[in-house]
Amino acid sequence: MKVAGQKLIANVTGQRSRTTWGVNLAMELARTGTRISGLALGPTLMLASAFVIAFCQVSLAQGDADLEAPGLAPFATPASPQPTLFQNVRIFDGRSAALSAPSNVLVRGNTIARISSGPITMEADANVRVIAANGRVLMPGLIDAHWHAFMAATPQMLLMTADPNYLDLLAARQAAATLMRGFTTIRDLGGPVFGLKRAIDEGVTAGPRIFPSGAFISQTSGHGDFRFSFEVPRVTGGPLSHSEMEGIAAIADSPDEVRLRAREQLRQGASQIKLMGGGGVASPYNPIESTQYTEPEIRAAVEAADNWGTYVTIHAYTPRAIQQAVAAGVKCIEHGQLIDEPTAKLLADNGIWWSLQPFMDDENASPLVNPVSQKKAQEVFAGTENAYRLAKKYKIKTAFGTDILFDARVAGRQGAILARMVHWYTPAEALKMATADNGELMALSGFINPYPGKLGVVEEGALADLLLVDGNPLENIKLVEDPDKNFLVIMKDGTVYKDTVPK
Ligand SMILES: [Zn+2]
Repeated sequence: MKVAGQKLIANVTGQRSRTTWGVNLAMELARTGTRISGLALGPTLMLASAFVIAFCQVSLAQGDADLEAPGLAPFATPASPQPTLFQNVRIFDGRSAALSAPSNVLVRGNTIARISSGPITMEADANVRVIAANGRVLMPGLIDAHWHAFMAATPQMLLMTADPNYLDLLAARQAAATLMRGFTTIRDLGGPVFGLKRAIDEGVTAGPRIFPSGAFISQTSGHGDFRFSFEVPRVTGGPLSHSEMEGIAAIADSPDEVRLRAREQLRQGASQIKLMGGGGVASPYNPIESTQYTEPEIRAAVEAADNWGTYVTIHAYTPRAIQQAVAAGVKCIEHGQLIDEPTAKLLADNGIWWSLQPFMDDENASPLVNPVSQKKAQEVFAGTENAYRLAKKYKIKTAFGTDILFDARVAGRQGAILARMVHWYTPAEALKMATADNGELMALSGFINPYPGKLGVVEEGALADLLLVDGNPLENIKLVEDPDKNFLVIMKDGTVYKDTVPK
C-alpha cells in the first residue's frame, strides 16, 4: 500500500520521472476525490486498489498541499535533461587551490556521473550534448548564503506599496538574472519566496535553487518591524501589518509566539529559520547596539527548528547579541561586523557558522535614504575589516553572502562583491567559500533539505550545478564580475541554461 502511494508522490513532486498514464489517471481521481471528499467516499472505495491507495494518500494525508500538486501546474514538469559531456576541462573542484589535469566530465540526470582524465565513451544512441571545452575551467555553480530573492532588486518604497503580484513578477525576473550570474543556489534570508521556489523547481521559470526562510521573525521594534507608527499599539492577535501579510516579516513577542511563527514558516517549506537578534541598519525603530529577543524566546525557535532537523540563523552585529544567540543554540550568525575577540573565539569554540558579508562604503552598498540608517551603515562598514581578520585568525567556519537589498544595479554586482573578497583571501579561498563551504552550510538543513545531495563541489555523485569559465578564476577572480562574457556554460541540476562556447 505504501509503495504505490509513495510512487505517486514521487511522480508529482518533481522527481523528473516520466509521468505515466496510470499516474495521470490516479491524479485525476485524486483530484476528483479531493473535491468530493466527504460526499462520495463510498463509491470511490469500490475502485481498483492502486487508485484507492492514491486517493487515500491524497485526500486524507496532506490537506491543501495536495490541491497544489505540481502535476496540476500549467506547465509539464521538465523531463530528465539530456546527458552532457564536458570534454577537456581543467577542474576547480570547490576545495583545491589548484586546477586538475585536463579531464572529461559526464553529467547524467541531475548529477555528475563520471570524472576521468581518460576519454569517456558513450553509446552511439545516447543523445549526449558534447561540449568541447578546449582546456577551459569547469567549476561549481556559485552559492550566495545571504540573499533576498524578493527584495534584492526592488526599491523599498515599491515593496511597501505595489501590487504583490507585480512584485512577484519582478522577483521572478531577478531570479533568472541571478542564475545567469552563475549563482545556482541562494539561501534566502527573508521574504515571500515559497511560490517562486516552487515555480523554479518545476521549471515554470528560471532561477537558482532556493533555501527559503520565509518571513524573518522579529520582536516588536526589532530589525524586522517595519510598521508605521500609527499601527502601534497592536493588541495580541490583532490584525497583521502589511509586511506580515506579505510574508516578509513575522512579528512575535514571547517564546510561545516565536514558536508559532517558526512552525508556520516550517509548515510552508522553510529550510531554516531566520531570527532578528539585534539592531539593524535599514530598520528605523532600533538602535544598532540593541539586543533583541531574550534567550528563552530564541530557544523556542531553536527547538522548533531542531525538531524539524534544521537550525536557526540570526541577524546580530554586537558581541552581546551574538553571545545570547549562541547560548540559545543558534547555529549561524548573520553579519556580526561589530564582534569582539572573545566573541569570535566563542564562535570558533562552538563550531558556529559565520555568514559574513564584505559590507563597505563603495559602489556595492545597498542604497539607504534615511540618514539614521546611513549613520548606522557607517558603523557597520567600519567593522568589516576587523570581522574578517578575526574570522581568519580563529578559523571560524565562514560563509560568503551579499545581502543586497532594494537595488537592481547593485544586485547586478553580486559577482563583483565576491571578487572583492580578495581584499582578505586568495582567489581560491574566496571561491571555496562561495562553493564548497557554502554548500556545507546548505546541508545544515538536515532531513528537510529541499535539494538533498552535494552542492558546491565538482565530484562524482554531486549535484550537477556547473560553470564553464573562459579563463582561470583562481588566477583572475575578476572573471566572475562579468558573467555574461566569461561564463560560457551555466548548468543547474543537470540542465544547461546557457551555452555560448564557440563551436
Ligand atoms: Zn539580509
